[in-house]
Amino acid sequence: MRLAEVMGQKRVVDALQRSITTNRVAHAYLFEGISGCGRRTTALALISALFCQQPSDGDACGRCSSCKKLAAGSHPDLHLLQPLPDKRDISIEQVRELQQMLSLRPFEAKRKACLIEPAERMSLGAANSLLKTLEEPPGHAVMILLATQADRLLPTIRSRCQHLRFAPLAVSDLVTLLERQGVEPSVAATLAPLSEGSLEQAREVDSEAAAASRQELLGALRQVRHQQVATVFDASERLAGSRDETLGLFSLLISLLRDMILLRSAAMDRITNLFLQDQLAEEAARFHPADLMEALELALEIRRSIQGNVNAKLALDRFLLRYSRLRTT
Ligand SMILES: [Zn+2]
Repeated sequence: MRLAEVMGQKRVVDALQRSITTNRVAHAYLFEGISGCGRRTTALALISALFCQQPSDGDACGRCSSCKKLAAGSHPDLHLLQPLPDKRDISIEQVRELQQMLSLRPFEAKRKACLIEPAERMSLGAANSLLKTLEEPPGHAVMILLATQADRLLPTIRSRCQHLRFAPLAVSDLVTLLERQGVEPSVAATLAPLSEGSLEQAREVDSEAAAASRQELLGALRQVRHQQVATVFDASERLAGSRDETLGLFSLLISLLRDMILLRSAAMDRITNLFLQDQLAEEAARFHPADLMEALELALEIRRSIQGNVNAKLALDRFLLRYSRLRTT
């Protein structure tokens, strides 16, 4: 991966390329941003640019053996520091091992590099033990710390790093990235606005299943009639599931209700579930705007109560009964 190929992080990438061309690369970086916004990709692109045998304009060539080894994850001068598979934290022993490795001469590159991910998971001992290394990495190693919340790191760690903030990805960049990964353009367009700027989140959601369950949920809501208890219980039967499934259902429900409120206030350009716009508008028209607000507040309250161990099925019934009363038809 070359820096020029990183999507949607132009400000950060420009700053990094400038620091390479002016020979002012920092010895420690802190990349802060949500998961899936490109921090890791950018870190690897920076390391490629520094390790490359034929770099130009502060970027890697993407073709030399060094670039290829980095792309394949097999470069001997890149060290990763992550929690061990069965452990929560990065331990002090792991930091000592890293320090040992960094004290050796690089095998192939001019310097070594180290990626610490997630930096928040360093134990206090590990973090303290890393301080001196961050200040003066042996052999001019470059240290890159990835964090989602930099304020959870020790101030002494933060102050030793150049802090770069990554923005969530724009919807258009997410669409491009998803399409590059072979996602159908229509699915990518549906998925990108739901992913909160994170490619990881977009990948996590099984796109078709997610769209289908939103559609299914809205279908069940549309079946509910004003004051007709039988329609409420039919909908509840259709939607009932385990506690976790019901929690997921309420999250989708909250997103649909928010969109219905936006549609009633003519803010259609801000809705999340664009692919359901017509059905959502029809459903929203059956409520007084204030009653939609009440339904949303109730959904938020009921989701909290399920998290607090209220019976999921009863909670769903309670919501749908109230929903049927709030409807005008
Ligand atoms: Zn190269």
